Amino acid sequence: MKFRLLSLYPEQMNIYADRGNILLLRKRCEWRGIDFELTGCSIGEGFNPSAHDLLYIGGGQDRDQRVVAGDLVGGKRELIREFVDQGHSLLAVCGGYQLLGNFYELGSGQIEGLGLVDIHTVRSEEPRLVGPVAIETRLTESSPTLVGFENHGGRTWLGSGVQPLGRVISGHGNNGEDGTEGVRSGNVIGTYLHGPLLPKNVWLADHLIESGLRRNYGDDVRLTQLDDGLEAAAHEVALAAALSDR
Ligand code: GLN
Repeated sequence: MKFRLLSLYPEQMNIYADRGNILLLRKRCEWRGIDFELTGCSIGEGFNPSAHDLLYIGGGQDRDQRVVAGDLVGGKRELIREFVDQGHSLLAVCGGYQLLGNFYELGSGQIEGLGLVDIHTVRSEEPRLVGPVAIETRLTESSPTLVGFENHGGRTWLGSGVQPLGRVISGHGNNGEDGTEGVRSGNVIGTYLHGPLLPKNVWLADHLIESGLRRNYGDDVRLTQLDDGLEAAAHEVALAAALSDR
């Protein structure tokens, strides 16, 4: 079996160790004997929406977001829609998450987003929302916890009826006010959690890998268990940091 990851704007959108998410996906595939294919897609480049199982966009500073936004909306929007409509998964972190929405409003103007989910983000003059964060999700039946680190000036607001990725247990989440964190719309996931996200939450990595493989190889695909002692410890440490910050 092969798992095919498409990384959008790997040079610009990668702050807070987001490259670790990609490395983690690679390792968890390789440890199981699953081939891993990584394709980068930068400004001015296209991609085949049928040739990848997961699309990943990492975090970026406001200036990075400005650099990629024109290309994202002008050059890649239709390809991304087609990719998602085919049922593939998309994971976007922080700056990448903000760009999934309708717009990101900064003091001096607006960055147009993909409009893939009905959310929008507004840059605040208030202090940035920074620190450890823990959320409770409904992604699988056991409502697993996600832990990470957030650092964003933008506040994200969900349109009516739009589901968050989870509820904040500790930390700020989308906007520091309504207790929501991230967004989940079908196979699209957006979140403010860096850290990077996946090494501290390997269940989410496996969920993404398994979903991708099942689309290609059938519903019987089951990932083998790995020895996740260190990964579980990383999760616990991050959770303790978030809870002690309350
Ligand atoms: N530039 C965005 C903000 O500050 C996102 C930052 C990030 O990706 N950490 O809100």
